[in-house]
Amino acid sequence: MRNSVSIRRGTLTAAAALMFLIAAAAAENKPGGLDENQVKAVPGASAPGESAKTNCLQEIVAGDGKYHISIDTCDTHDLSSWATDTLAPIVREWYPKIIDLLPGEGFEAPSKVSVVFSSSMQGVADTSGTRIRCAGKWFRKNLNGEAAGSVVHELVHVVQQYGRGRRANPGGKRAPGWLVEGIADYIRWFLYEPQSHGADEVWLKGRKNMQLREDAGYRVTANFLNWVTLKYDKNLVRELNAAIRQGNYDEKLWKQFTGHDQSELGAEWKADVEQKLSLNPDRAALGLPCAVAVSG
Ligand SMILES: [Zn+2]
Repeated sequence: MRNSVSIRRGTLTAAAALMFLIAAAAAENKPGGLDENQVKAVPGASAPGESAKTNCLQEIVAGDGKYHISIDTCDTHDLSSWATDTLAPIVREWYPKIIDLLPGEGFEAPSKVSVVFSSSMQGVADTSGTRIRCAGKWFRKNLNGEAAGSVVHELVHVVQQYGRGRRANPGGKRAPGWLVEGIADYIRWFLYEPQSHGADEVWLKGRKNMQLREDAGYRVTANFLNWVTLKYDKNLVRELNAAIRQGNYDEKLWKQFTGHDQSELGAEWKADVEQKLSLNPDRAALGLPCAVAVSG
């Protein structure tokens, strides 16, 4: 159990820090201190005039104290309440879950992650290493819709750590971007929020400008991965992830895991989806909502 109090942005005396811990422990009715998995606002992180409710820097402790995720809304103060009330519990629950979904031999997921909201950033969100950046402008418009799920998508990139694997295996093969993004959207749409129907047949039915290819990326690839998982290999994503992370991705893996080539699977999936939805196969490409910077 850890009861450290981080102090950033502002000052806090040792006595005040002690008072905070005592008050927090009392609130939890736990004499030993804060619960390991709770979301903890960081004292001293409020700008002058802010109330404690709009504290803009908080640290989430998850996975029995193993993981620390900070959420910084100091550049977008109006998002602080949403970050505390909605996003923080989701991050606390799902970061360890994603780690469990994407294991690898000898792999240790990053123990520290930061989620930083930016008032000037364009687009939606991106990930570089263990740092997730979120565009405040887009999030404001999507708080009750896709906002939280987009952070889950980015958390998958933090856990993937494919650049790190390739550095350990310099001759290794890099996985295609469509698959990297497809895995992130598979976990997001089919495991985190299936009730949103963001990549399943309900979603496909409503799209007019879409290319139905397994390598289209994002939601379309997520749909493909889900289809192959259900039909041929329930451990597909787990196995692909482990291979990619070690720099061992190869198209032959599809045959190895499922008994069918990627192209065969893609054709079968497409025919199945088209039959179900009566879609026109010649549709334009999807827009790409996310960018991930993979170093190395
Ligand atoms: Zn992405």
